[in-house]
Amino acid sequence: MSEDKPTVAIIGSGIAGLAATHILGEKYAVTIFEREATLGMDSQSISVPPCKGRVDVPLRIFNPRFYPLLTKLYTSTQVSFAPCSSEFSSSWITKEKGVAGYFKYSNLSIGKLGIPYFSLNLSPMNWLNSSHKYRPSYLKTLYSTVLHSVSLFRFFLFSPFYIGVRTGLGCKALTLGEYLKGGLIPYPKTFIYDLLYPMLSVVCTCSYSSLDAYPAKTIIDYYNTYGILTWFPNPFRTKLQYGGAHCRVTEGINSVCEKLSKRAVKCVFNSNVTEVIPGAKPLVKSKDGSVQEFDYVVVATQPHHASALLPQAKPELLEALKQWKYEHSCVYVHRCDSLMPSRNCDWSNVNIMVGPRTTGLDGSQCSIWLNRLDDTIPEDVYQTWNPAFKLEEDKILKYAEFTRPVVTMETERHCKVVKENQGSGGVFLVGSYSRFDMPLLENAVKSGKEVGELMGVSF
Ligand SMILES: Cc1cc2nc3c(=O)[nH]c(=O)nc-3n(C[C@H](O)[C@H](O)[C@H](O)COP(=O)(O)OP(=O)(O)OC[C@H]3O[C@@H](n4cnc5c(N)ncnc54)[C@H](O)[C@@H]3O)c2cc1C
Repeated sequence: MSEDKPTVAIIGSGIAGLAATHILGEKYAVTIFEREATLGMDSQSISVPPCKGRVDVPLRIFNPRFYPLLTKLYTSTQVSFAPCSSEFSSSWITKEKGVAGYFKYSNLSIGKLGIPYFSLNLSPMNWLNSSHKYRPSYLKTLYSTVLHSVSLFRFFLFSPFYIGVRTGLGCKALTLGEYLKGGLIPYPKTFIYDLLYPMLSVVCTCSYSSLDAYPAKTIIDYYNTYGILTWFPNPFRTKLQYGGAHCRVTEGINSVCEKLSKRAVKCVFNSNVTEVIPGAKPLVKSKDGSVQEFDYVVVATQPHHASALLPQAKPELLEALKQWKYEHSCVYVHRCDSLMPSRNCDWSNVNIMVGPRTTGLDGSQCSIWLNRLDDTIPEDVYQTWNPAFKLEEDKILKYAEFTRPVVTMETERHCKVVKENQGSGGVFLVGSYSRFDMPLLENAVKSGKEVGELMGVSF
């Protein structure tokens, strides 16, 4: 049967390549080329016995309400997923004991509703129990708590309205840094660096300086569409919405990848593709010297890899791919309690740890309490992104490195160039980076859906 179908090579099997495989596999004979030894989405995962399936690294969660295409993809391929609480806490980074966390967000699940609530550290007892050298006076703690609350409400309620009006009037687009730190009443630094940026640096996997340069509208739209904003009774919204609970896949990520790639006729692993040559019949060149001809090629790698693969692409596309900004970071899976908040009562599913501003750290650290999210893992296991301290060697289970695209004021222009060049020389591009939005799983699936439409397959 597959011999009659036109052929497509998909280079890369992260979620974008896998979504494209499922969508295009309906009408095309798909061959996946992946440079890793397993499908890309599973390539960094880890077995934690006696847990049967492999644990996702990095752990990726989603909210069906705001990730409709990813949810459709998982549902149509029988991938099982279940709600998980997206509660998180913020604490100071320290090795000393007795320091109070200063913010806790939680989510009350009632049926399909996830009602958020947060608590700030106002308790004098918490403060008295804390002996940390960065501990401010109680009055200062009280003051910053009030500032955090007022600023959070201001940001969540007022920002969409303000940015919406500015966009409507055709004013110059602002970076997040310009929006927060400029204007008549700038946001307090304590709110920016102790609360908002730590949260966002985890969502975007990037530094505070990259957040400064993020387009303000992208972040505010994200909260408006995906996040907390939708849960607030916002007078500037015409429709009141409540967010459903966040979810995680409940089978091993290896099994998820198997299901998503079922429609591929062939998967070639350890196949470092070195070049894709556009043409009436595009060619795929691999490191082993082999050259294969296809009817179409879909490049599903990160943009800097795509630029290396496509030296013969149109100059404007090559330039846009080369200029895409990205950041490099790492994730450890481990058993070191020292990377969790100092006091056990501050432990949460997601634990954001923040360096006091005086230390000049350009980002936060985030530890996920894996066995709290997945009760099939019997003992304490954590996944820490961007650790601030060296881990004890014997407690490290896995180390993985990632690059993630960062959105800048130029990204919209680059995405336009990608869009204009889709299909040129039989080559298409997909990836969570390739559409102008937050580089999350949903955007990767959307990119696969859009390329599917261009190639005559709807999803
Ligand atoms: C720490 C962290 C946490 C995250 N958490 C979340 C989350 O909770 N929710 C969420 O929605 N998103 C999250 N994300 C973002 C999400 O993981 C990415 O947006 C998504 O995985 C990107 O998928 P992709 O398919 O576009 O790219 P990738 O996953 O990078 O896939 C590209 C693939 O191409 C392969 N490749 C590259 N070059 C070649 C070559 N020459 N030949 C063959 N193959 C090649 C690579 O090996 C890789 O498998 C997180 C990201 C990070 C880093």
